[in-house]
Amino acid sequence: MKAAIYLGPGKIEVKEVPTPKPKEGEILLKINTCAVCGTDVRIYYHGQANVKPPHIIGHEIAGTIEELGKGVQGFRKSEKVTSVTCVGCQKCKFCAQHLYNLCDTPRYLGYFYPGAFAEYMIIPKEAVDGGNIVKAPEKLSFPEISLVEPLSCVINGQDFLKVKKGDFAVVFGAGPIGCMHAEIARAAGASTVVLFDVSDSRLELAKRFAGITLLNSSKIDPVKKVMEMTGNCGADVIVVACGVNAVQEQAVAIAAKRARISMFAGLPKDNPYIKFDSNLIHYKEISVFGAFASNKEQYERALKLIASGKIDAKKFITNSFPLKDIVTAFETTKKGAGLKTVVTME
Ligand SMILES: [Zn+2]
Ligand SMILES: [Zn+2]
Repeated sequence: MKAAIYLGPGKIEVKEVPTPKPKEGEILLKINTCAVCGTDVRIYYHGQANVKPPHIIGHEIAGTIEELGKGVQGFRKSEKVTSVTCVGCQKCKFCAQHLYNLCDTPRYLGYFYPGAFAEYMIIPKEAVDGGNIVKAPEKLSFPEISLVEPLSCVINGQDFLKVKKGDFAVVFGAGPIGCMHAEIARAAGASTVVLFDVSDSRLELAKRFAGITLLNSSKIDPVKKVMEMTGNCGADVIVVACGVNAVQEQAVAIAAKRARISMFAGLPKDNPYIKFDSNLIHYKEISVFGAFASNKEQYERALKLIASGKIDAKKFITNSFPLKDIVTAFETTKKGAGLKTVVTME
C-alpha cells in the first residue's frame, strides 16, 4: 500500500509499504479520505512526544471495512465507517463512563497506533472491543465522513455551553473549528453569533455561513465592540478557538452574568498562563469549561448533524490533495489558506 511515513519533524515520505494484515480481533480499513487536523500539522513541523517516527499519522478517518480479523463480528466488508480517535484502557473510571478522551492512560489512533494517511489502516483489537468504530450512512461522501471527528470535538465543547434560544454568542478564531462552533451555536438558537478573527481572508471564507456577524479583532477592540453590541451586558456564550493567551483574557472580560466560556484551544506549552479579574467569575457566576477530543456518542451526533444537513460538511472543505501531495496539504493548513483540507488516497 501507499502510505505517508512521518520520519521526524519536517520529514515525511510517501512510499510503498506492506499492507497490514488484521490479526485476531482487529479490523483492516481501506481509507478513502483523511482530513488534516491542526495537530497533524504540529506533529509534522515540530514532532510530538507520543508519536515515535517512523510512523503513519492522521486520525480524521473516512473509509470502508476491508477485512475482519478472526473473531470479529458485527461488521461487513465495504461498510462506510470512521473511528473514535481515543482508545481507552477500559480500566479507569473515565473509560467506565465511555469517556475515552479522558482515559488515564489513553492511546490514540494516528499517534500511538498507525493512522489514516495511508491506503489501509488497522483498527486495533482494543479499539474494536471498545466500540470505537462508528458506522456512517451510505449516502455520506468520504470527505463528509472525515469531518465527523472535528465536528464531534466541537460538539464536546458545545455540550458544556448549553446554548439556548436568544443567547448572544461570541467565537474567537474563524478556522474550521471556530466556524463549526459558530454554526452549532446558531443552530442551537443563539440570536447573535459574532465570529472574530485577525485575518480578513479567513473572515472572507466564513461568509459562506449565513447569519453570523464577522469582525476583524485586529481592527476593532473585541471587548469594546461586544459590550457596545450587548448594551454593556456582555456575551452569554464565548468560545476561544485559537490558542492565544490575550484572547482567553478577553473572553472573561466580555462575559455576561451566568456566561459560559469554552477554552477550546490549548495555549503554548511554554506560556500557558493568563491573567483576569477572578471577581468577575465570582460575582457574575461565570462558568469556564475546557474540552478535549470527544466520545463516541458525540461522533454519532456529529454524523446525524451532517447526514441531516443541519451542518453542511461540504461547506467546510476547501482543499483536497492526493496522498502524494501531503506536504502541500500540511503547508496549506499551516498557512490557514482555506478552511478544512482533506487528503484522498486515490
Ligand atoms: Zn482532529
Ligand atoms: Zn481508561
